[in-house]
Amino acid sequence: MVKPFEPKLIYVEPRALEYPLGKELVEKFDKQGIEIRETTSHNHIRNLPGDNHFQKYRNAKSTLVIGIRKTLTFDTSKPSAEYAIPFATGCMGHCHYCYLQTTMGSKPYIRTYVNTEEIFDAAEEYMQKRAPEITRFEASCTSDIVGIDHLTHSLKRAIEFFGKSDYGKLRFVTKFEHVDHLLDAEHNRRTRFRFSINDDYVIKYFEPGTSRLQERIKAAVKVAEAGYPLGFIVAPIYLHEGWEEGYLEMFETLKDALPAFAKKDLTFEMIQHRFTKPAKRVIQENYPMTKLELDESKRKWKWGRYGIGKYIYQDDEQQAIKNTLGGYIESYFPEATLEYFT
Ligand code: SF4
Repeated sequence: MVKPFEPKLIYVEPRALEYPLGKELVEKFDKQGIEIRETTSHNHIRNLPGDNHFQKYRNAKSTLVIGIRKTLTFDTSKPSAEYAIPFATGCMGHCHYCYLQTTMGSKPYIRTYVNTEEIFDAAEEYMQKRAPEITRFEASCTSDIVGIDHLTHSLKRAIEFFGKSDYGKLRFVTKFEHVDHLLDAEHNRRTRFRFSINDDYVIKYFEPGTSRLQERIKAAVKVAEAGYPLGFIVAPIYLHEGWEEGYLEMFETLKDALPAFAKKDLTFEMIQHRFTKPAKRVIQENYPMTKLELDESKRKWKWGRYGIGKYIYQDDEQQAIKNTLGGYIESYFPEATLEYFT
């Protein structure tokens, strides 16, 4: 079992103290004796502890910044939702392939935004514009929001906010098992609670600091019993020696653990491993011993967002993934929906 995240150092932006959650968090961490520093803006955080890049990077991942979200324009979040809703940025996990490594660059600390009511108001405007069509919001585009929510309960508030909304739905995904405080939230089935899963090999070698498969599945069972619509993102699907058996075992474990009712309204998303050249550089700097295969010559190049090409699997490998994993899903979870493979 991985321990729930406990920050070792806190930074607080002065304006965060104008919000009840900001005050509450500062008081809580102060009582716990955690060092709290003031910063005018997270952009000014320069003196993180550590003698070299390696130490600074690790210390940053256990640093929490209590701030406010200034930009209330939401990014789009295809294919899983219409918009990304921002409650936090950054993550304490150490997944080697994590997309945050490139998007967060030199600022890998975790930021939580305490102006949640303003974020909800912005979400309401987006919903009203599209009504009566449903608008889906993804809460885990810039962090593993569940992994820090035992500290802030912002996600819990969001679940209840969307629980009462007419035209909004919430979704997020996690690799953490710390879901207990979310089980009694009044979700009204308007939140799809997803877990990111992978086979034992991938979790063991590439996802340090996150919950193991069995723990994620146990948490998923609790979530299903609490009445949430459930989903799984199999990502990144990574071709290693014995991947067919690895993923078969993963799906078998899942099938045996999930109660029958949870298999009815179940979604799967499948995302193959990919990397960009900038990501490769950052991964090799932050995790120099990684076994992750990042050889461009073995991959297919594809245009990506912002013109940065990404390296995905060759067509025949993609087909093999689709057939093999798609086949497992069809035979073990015939009533589930496979939302996409990308
Ligand atoms: Fe990144 Fe998710 Fe791993 Fe956190 S748990 S490091 S967000 S991949």
